[in-house]
Amino acid sequence: MSTRKKGIQFKACVSCRTLVDREAQVCPNCGSKEFTEDWSGIIIAIEPESSELARTLNITGKGRYAVKLE
Ligand SMILES: [Zn+2]
Repeated sequence: MSTRKKGIQFKACVSCRTLVDREAQVCPNCGSKEFTEDWSGIIIAIEPESSELARTLNITGKGRYAVKLE
């Protein structure tokens, strides 16, 4: 049993906040190899060009992003 506070199987890229599978070694979005599992909130960017939140978070591509890194 997991004792993690979040039962989500993703980790977040520290440079672009893309959420990737825990097993991923390299961020598919920016190529970074630094990840954190301390993140909160998910934004699914479908039309980042027309999303206020995506703009605020500096998201330019479609995908799954963490709203906040701890
Ligand atoms: Zn990245």
